[in-house]
Amino acid sequence: MDTRQHGGLRLKKAMVIIVFIAFVSIFSGVADTIYAAKITDSQKIEYLLTDFHVSAQKGNYAYQRERYEHFDCLRGDSYFDLEFNKIASVTFIAKYHNPIKYHRLADVALVSGEKFKLYLNCYSLEGIDSTLGSRVRVHMADTKSIIFLHDGTFKKCPLCNTIFYNTELTYCSFDKEKLVPQHSD
Ligand SMILES: [Zn+2]
Repeated sequence: MDTRQHGGLRLKKAMVIIVFIAFVSIFSGVADTIYAAKITDSQKIEYLLTDFHVSAQKGNYAYQRERYEHFDCLRGDSYFDLEFNKIASVTFIAKYHNPIKYHRLADVALVSGEKFKLYLNCYSLEGIDSTLGSRVRVHMADTKSIIFLHDGTFKKCPLCNTIFYNTELTYCSFDKEKLVPQHSD
C-alpha cells in the first residue's frame, strides 16, 4: 500500500467517526439538554441560572467537579437518582450535614404532581447568570429553594444559543432565527 492510499483510508476513517459522533449527539438529544432554574439563597437573593447543573460531595477532601443533571437522593434506606426533568421544585427544610453528612432534607415537588421529603446529596448548584454575565456557584448549604423552569417557559436560539425567558418572543433578537422551546417533549 503506498502512502497516498494510506492517507485516504485514514481520512475516510476519520470522516466515519465524525459522522457517527454527529448522529449520536443529534439522536440522543444530549446537545440540547439545557436546564434553567430559579435559585433563592439563604439571604433571599435570587439567581436565574441557565446551563443549570450540580456537583456532589463524594469524599472528605474534594467534591467532584463533574456536572450532574440529577440529584443523588436518599429516601428511607434506598439511594436513587432524581433527574432534573422530573423535578418542579425543591425547598430545603433542614440544615446541611444534619443529620446525615453531605445531605440535606428537602420538600420535593415533581412535575407529575407528586410531593415527598427526600435527603439530597449535593455540594453546589451551578449555572450561567445572564444578568451578571458570568458563571455562578451557590453552595447547597446556602440555598433556600430551587424552581425548575420547564416546558417552553424558556426558549433557545439554535443559531447563537441565547436563552430567552420572554415566552412571547418567537424570533431571536440578535439574528432573527426562530426560537425553540426547551423540554417540550
Ligand atoms: Zn440567535
